[in-house]
Amino acid sequence: MNDKMKISTWVSTCVLFCLSLALALNVAAAPSFTPLPLGGGATTAFADKHPDDRKGGWLDLGGNDLSVIKSGRLKISGISFDILDDEATGGKSCIVLGGPNRPYLPARAEIPVDGKQGAMLYLLHAAAWCPPAKAKPVTGLLFVDYADGSTTEWRVRFGRDVADWAKPDAYKNAIRVWTAYNANTQVSLFASKFKLDAKPVKSVRFEARESAWMVVAATLGDDVKIAGIKPNLNLDKTYAAPTLGKPPAAFDANAIPKNVILIIGDGMGPGALQLTSLYQHKAEGRLVMEQLPVDTRCVTVSLGPSVTDSAAAATAFATGIKTKNSRLGMTEDKKAVVSIAEAASRQKGKSVAIITSDGITDATPAGFYAHVSARNYHEEIAVFAATSGYDILIGGVKGKPWFFGKDTADGKREDGRNLINEMASAGYACIENQAAFDQAPAGKRVVGFMPQGTLDSETCLADLEKTALGRLSRNDKGFFMMLECAITDKGGHGNNPELSVRGTLQVDWAVKAALEFAEARGDTLVMVTADHETGALSARISADGKLLISYATTSHTDIPVRFLAYGPGSGRFDRPLIDNTDVGRTIASLWDLDIY
Ligand SMILES: [Zn+2]
Repeated sequence: MNDKMKISTWVSTCVLFCLSLALALNVAAAPSFTPLPLGGGATTAFADKHPDDRKGGWLDLGGNDLSVIKSGRLKISGISFDILDDEATGGKSCIVLGGPNRPYLPARAEIPVDGKQGAMLYLLHAAAWCPPAKAKPVTGLLFVDYADGSTTEWRVRFGRDVADWAKPDAYKNAIRVWTAYNANTQVSLFASKFKLDAKPVKSVRFEARESAWMVVAATLGDDVKIAGIKPNLNLDKTYAAPTLGKPPAAFDANAIPKNVILIIGDGMGPGALQLTSLYQHKAEGRLVMEQLPVDTRCVTVSLGPSVTDSAAAATAFATGIKTKNSRLGMTEDKKAVVSIAEAASRQKGKSVAIITSDGITDATPAGFYAHVSARNYHEEIAVFAATSGYDILIGGVKGKPWFFGKDTADGKREDGRNLINEMASAGYACIENQAAFDQAPAGKRVVGFMPQGTLDSETCLADLEKTALGRLSRNDKGFFMMLECAITDKGGHGNNPELSVRGTLQVDWAVKAALEFAEARGDTLVMVTADHETGALSARISADGKLLISYATTSHTDIPVRFLAYGPGSGRFDRPLIDNTDVGRTIASLWDLDIY
């Protein structure tokens, strides 16, 4: 190479260097964003006090709201969003358009932009009550009005530009960027971007179409790639886990039990037990429930459509028949079938307790006392509860509105009946906390509505159970008790391992209390199972000792669930695979109940 060539190479290298430096400087210039003040167009608050009172607050679903979101500046992939504060705005912090399921909420909203501009409009938003994504439903219309009088319109499609707030599924232009558990369910928000013309914007408008649409914040700014959150599948919380000091006491597996305790973890599939045991005890198979001598699997399928829901599963446990999803205590063709709980009470004089961390009119508890063709007939279901004659009916406060007329503050009943007054006349005491349950007069039956939050801890269900066992065991004829934990199902739907573990531990504490009672007496059959699996959850320890957690879906699955049992009668289940109808059939046979 001669000198001339060297120089020219050097020059071109220098030019290239300068060019790339300029490019680098250009890239390095921080993208800029202008959060749009939603205040001008916000329609409602993040928090909702009373469900269905038509005053809104988020989606008018009561505590199932977005009050869990923190106000102030939220940065997502560098994009700044301003989250308003309910108190500061006097309850106008977000835009919630009702759509077909909430026609009484606003159908449109508009935010003033006052001539600001940007390459992109970013929305932090979500939808609710969405038709299936494959139908390509339009959640709503988005309009950007420019200062020059022109307008751009977008069809904001569910499954492409927006996603369901109660599901973790993200889409091409609906990136899941924020999630939290709102004490009801796992909720998420999604970021989407829409390309703008390079001219001043006057206003942004929103119009609902096929579902509810919630806009939490909007921002104008440069075009950047939005990064989604990875679900946090690391557990770093500490929980109290029960253990047994010694193997369970021996019993006669073929004897007839005087008492039956059925413990159901909603959606608590085999993966939930695996994960919980690995996390709490560093090995599989270490939960208290896994020490019960009968350990088999249970088939959960219903008559469909698709995999079972809690209603058909509860009906199978309670009556021994297969039915369609959503039916409670009824055959596929809507014939009422007596449950083992009803028959035990009416035919054998046994006491009955139904305790759940869900609402008492929700599907799993209702399967043991109600006969309706659809699980959402809460008003009718509550009448079945009120007239069941059961000794103990306890659930979360969410079931309470179905016991009071619409004319009262929290009531939802169209017929105006006050079922709690009716139950009081029939000898029920109404309790709203554990202490009141402990102190309820011995001669009374008990109906209970536990405030939100009190059914969340690992041991709360076991505490209710211990008090219930003390009361039920006064009946010389015996009792039937169904206890349900609802948290496990929420862990599966939300792909939230924290809830999967906490719920499974809630079941395990309840099993420990049941086992201690049964061991001391020798006359009580304890069964532990799930109505179905949720989330296709699995867990394992990697070669380098890390706990790996995986959920393959956010839906219910037909994966067979664990079935564990202890005590007299448990021998009837001691085979490799049982069906959920075997629970109802076997109890009916053991107790000689006439249920068909
Ligand atoms: Zn579920």
